[in-house]
Amino acid sequence: KHVAELIAAGEVVERPSSVIKELVENSIDAGASIVTVEIRRGGVTYMRVTDNGCGISREDVATAFLRHATSKVREKDDLDAILTLGFRGEALASISAVAHVDLITKTADSEIGTHYASSGGSDIQIEDAGCPNGTTITVRDIFYNVPARMKFLKKDTAEGNAVAGLMDKIALSHPEISFRLIREGKETLHTPGDGKLVSAIYAVFGKEFSTNLLPVDYALGGVRVWGFISSPLGSRPNRSMQNFFINGRFVRSRTAAVALEEAYKGSIMVGKFPACVLHLELSSAAVDVNVHPAKLEVRFVNERPVFDAVYHGVKSALSASRE
Ligand code: ADP
Ligand code: MG
Repeated sequence: KHVAELIAAGEVVERPSSVIKELVENSIDAGASIVTVEIRRGGVTYMRVTDNGCGISREDVATAFLRHATSKVREKDDLDAILTLGFRGEALASISAVAHVDLITKTADSEIGTHYASSGGSDIQIEDAGCPNGTTITVRDIFYNVPARMKFLKKDTAEGNAVAGLMDKIALSHPEISFRLIREGKETLHTPGDGKLVSAIYAVFGKEFSTNLLPVDYALGGVRVWGFISSPLGSRPNRSMQNFFINGRFVRSRTAAVALEEAYKGSIMVGKFPACVLHLELSSAAVDVNVHPAKLEVRFVNERPVFDAVYHGVKSALSASRE
């Protein structure tokens, strides 16, 4: 049983950033409006996620750490379900199998909270805890009991950078939530959570980037495209600032990227690249169900409408800016 647990854990938990992704998604699912992430040594020795979400009731705490335990009933054709398929109800079980875990949590309707602790999924302790509403989970020494996996971790800085990059994407996909990242004791990201995409962009990419933006809001053939693109003056030396979100999730889409660059042809110098934070909304049935949950690359049942909506949306934003 123990070995099976460890193998299964490897599917979800690869590195600190994959742990943070699961924990922060749980906080978002819990309806949190404020989420704080703290990491030390790139997350390898210490990760803590605090939220003000719904919390977990005492009778559900132990169950939440069992494999396939999920309180979330999702529509089968929900994009979210498609992208997380196979991972449902696995995150807490997998994380706790390969680390020391501490969780304190309280629901609004209970007087007293719960503290749950385990090491490698064993030595489980549950006791009362005085704490605010919401959940704080601390994960220490990832892979302390799986040296073979520990070997695959990169340098702390690289692991920390992966966490920071992930937090940027999550912050840009949820402007209505205030996110904070504290890295090695320093606050490196703080979004206001005022619901405005431009505020999140400002917090993530800074002032210089944010002053060269053009708004996009366009719908065509069942695809809505909205967000911001760089003005031709704000073009970049590479593609790293091209951010696409589909139905609220960060993805890589070759089609969207090609459409973006096509639309800029003639507007920017050869060898320069546009930047963007673009949200695409379309029916989840139009997204390829075969996409691997761990991969960000997304394919569409029909790429054409996506290409057209991005291309024309960007084109019209660029020409509006010239008027
Ligand atoms: P899943 O998210 O797929 O349901 P997880 O293993 O990530 O599976 O979480 C198991 C359960 O624990 C969730 O369904 C939820 O009920 C509860 N849970 C986990 N994290 C939180 C949180 N931050 N706030 C409230 N409930 C949580
Ligand atoms: Mg989860």
